[in-house]
Formats: sequence, C-alpha cells, structure tokens
Amino acid sequence: MAIRFAERTNNMEGSAIRELLKLTQRPEVISFAGGMPAPELFPVDAMIDVSRQVLEENGRVAMQYTTTEGYAPLREHLAKRMNDKLNTNVVADDLLITNGSQQCLDFIGKIFLDKDDIVLCESPSYLGAINAFNAYQPKFIDVPTDENGMIMEELEKILEENDRVKFIYVIPDFQNPSGRTWPLERRKKFMEIVNKYEIPVAEDNPYGELRYEGEYLPSLKSMDTKGLVMFLGTLSKVLSPGYRIGWVAAAPEILAKFNVIKQAADLQASTISQMEMAKFFDVYDVDAHVEKLREVYGHRRTVMLDAMKEHFPEGVTYTYPNGGLFTWVILPEGIDASVLQKEKALPHNVAFVPGEPFFPNGGHANTFRMNYSNMPDDKIKEGIRLLGLAIKEAIDE
Ligand code: PMP
Repeated sequence: MAIRFAERTNNMEGSAIRELLKLTQRPEVISFAGGMPAPELFPVDAMIDVSRQVLEENGRVAMQYTTTEGYAPLREHLAKRMNDKLNTNVVADDLLITNGSQQCLDFIGKIFLDKDDIVLCESPSYLGAINAFNAYQPKFIDVPTDENGMIMEELEKILEENDRVKFIYVIPDFQNPSGRTWPLERRKKFMEIVNKYEIPVAEDNPYGELRYEGEYLPSLKSMDTKGLVMFLGTLSKVLSPGYRIGWVAAAPEILAKFNVIKQAADLQASTISQMEMAKFFDVYDVDAHVEKLREVYGHRRTVMLDAMKEHFPEGVTYTYPNGGLFTWVILPEGIDASVLQKEKALPHNVAFVPGEPFFPNGGHANTFRMNYSNMPDDKIKEGIRLLGLAIKEAIDE
C-alpha cells in the first residue's frame, strides 16, 4: 500500500542537516553547530522563585486557559521593552504571543502564501524560516547581500520584475547565520522601497538586544509608516528558549489573521509560561540579566575571532559580528563544507553547520556557520585550532 501524503510534504526537508547534527552529538566532539544560549546563564533560581509566586498568588488563573492573543500583563511588558530598546511605538494590543517566534514563521507562511507565490529573503537566510515557509510551496528569491546585509538595488530590481512577491523576510540585526547587521542608511532605503511597492515585511529579531559593541540601531518596525512590518520577537535568546515565548507585533488587519490562525493551531500560548515571564519582568532586573549575557557572549565572540585569526589559513574569510551568536565562514572556492565536515573536521572531533541549506535555492557549498555562545574559552580555542588543521588539510589536497 502506498501512503499518499500531501504534496506540501515533498518540500519539507531538513533531514540531511539533522543527520549531520547527530554525528556532532558525540561527547568527544567540540561542536560549534548549535545555536543555543549558554545554560549556565539561565536565571534558574529566579524562575523557581517566580513560579512559586505565580502558583501561590494566582494558581487558578495560571492553570486555566487564557485569551488567544496572550496574557495581557506580559504583552504590556513586551510592548514597553520594544519601545524602550527598539524605538517602536507599540501597545500591548498590537502584540500576539506565540509558541516561540518559530510559530510566527509558520503562521506567516499560512497567512500569505499560496503555491508558487514568491518569498524574498536575504542570501543566506535562517534555515528554520526557509523550512517553515516551504510547507506552503512558495518559490524563493534570495536577494544578494554584502557585508552590510541585503543590497537595496538588487531588491528593487527583483520587485520590479516579479509581481507575485507576497512578503520579504529579513533579519537586520546580527543575522542568523551570517552575523551581519544592516546599517541605518540601508534600513531607511529598505523602508522606502517597501513603502513604494507596498509589500509586507517579516522583521525577525531574536538577537537585537545582544549587542557587544557599537550603537543600537532602530528597528524596521520603528520606521514603518504604512503598517507593513510584522515584527517577530522572542524571549528565547535573552531569557530561555524552553518557555517557548515569542510574539508578533503587527497592524490590526494583519494581527487579526494571526489571531484566527493561532486559535485554529493551538488556541493560545501556555498560560503558566506567560505568567511566569510576566512575573520575572515584574520583580527581577531584565536589563542586568541581558547585560551579563552581553558580557559573556561578547567575550566568547572575541575569543573565537582571535583564534580564527591565529589558526585559519590564508584564503579563508569570516564575518565580524557586533552581536548575536554566529559568525559565517567562507572557504576558498571549490572546497565543500559538508565534505570538509565529514572527511576532515569530524575525524578531528570538531563540527559546524555547512552553509548550503541556508540558501533556499542551494549553492554556496564553500560556506559554514559557527556558534560561539555555548562553550567556555578553552574549548573554543581548542576547537578552532582543530578546525584550522582540518581546513589546511582540505586546502592542501
Ligand atoms: N528566527 C531566527 C533568526 C532564529 O535564529 C531562531 C532561533 N534559532 C528563531 C527565529 C526561532 O526562535 P524561537 O522559536 O525559539 O523563538
């Protein structure tokens, strides 16, 4: 008997990279493949405290259903934080809480995409978003980028030539996977173009608060005069991914679609997770916590980049991230990062994520992504030394 799956599942891959990640899980492997926050920095004691307070003070509310848009006091905290940190001007009712921002990505696909519609994204872009959108069978055009993010002339050309573009997906701050950030001028130009063509934008910003140097830049959402920008936020990188608290801030007409889709998908985000996070904002100093993350991650970033400078052979380049969790490595043309991984890096017990899956239309096999947030200094140094050896072997062959 042949089982007949929906056509959309043909597009849903992700297994190749999963298989590869399994190999990186061996305890002797120093893996720079993940994208995880450092668990030693989770505020566990504070969460024990707030969970007790929530259950003691308000247990019968915490264990009950809540509204689809989410627990109002949490939305108030998040709206205020956006306004303080990102220059926006939003209120709690502009926000809807989701199960991590990953769920927002799925919802955006569901809300906007019919088969063969076009999604624009940066080249490269976040693999998890490509996978989420792929379920809705779109075509992708990945807009060329340089060290300052998406190239606006290229974007305009693509919009001029394609009338089925339904939305543009971007990560302007410390992008996953490249670590790049768009400067202010580019943000302004982007909004000019978007306003001209009236194309919705998904601005995904999980890393914006994790800046290690330079000035904070205003979000695209803060420059949005036509209600086109859907801002995707998450507490995953600044507090904890395990709580699964993300949100979207969007114009009422768009948010109404999110509300209907959220109801149909899973009714609401976890009441108790939302109440605990709201309580954390009430009684603890979130800024002090984020400051600590910035200190530790910023230091690890510098350790990694210094080690790369010392151990990577000539001809290998990498980005200099001012924040976030990743740097992006470009090998000389002709060296395939998946082959490097299998044949050279894993035998040296070191791992990364090959770059090709971050390009929705493939190619760029000579790239890979490195994470620096999740490992102590000595391991970073040793891992980069081993990786340097592996790359030299591949180049010398
Ligand atoms: N967007 C980007 C760019 C990410 O890097 C991640 C996490 N790796 C997510 C969205 C999803 O995060 P979460 O669902 O945990 O909020």
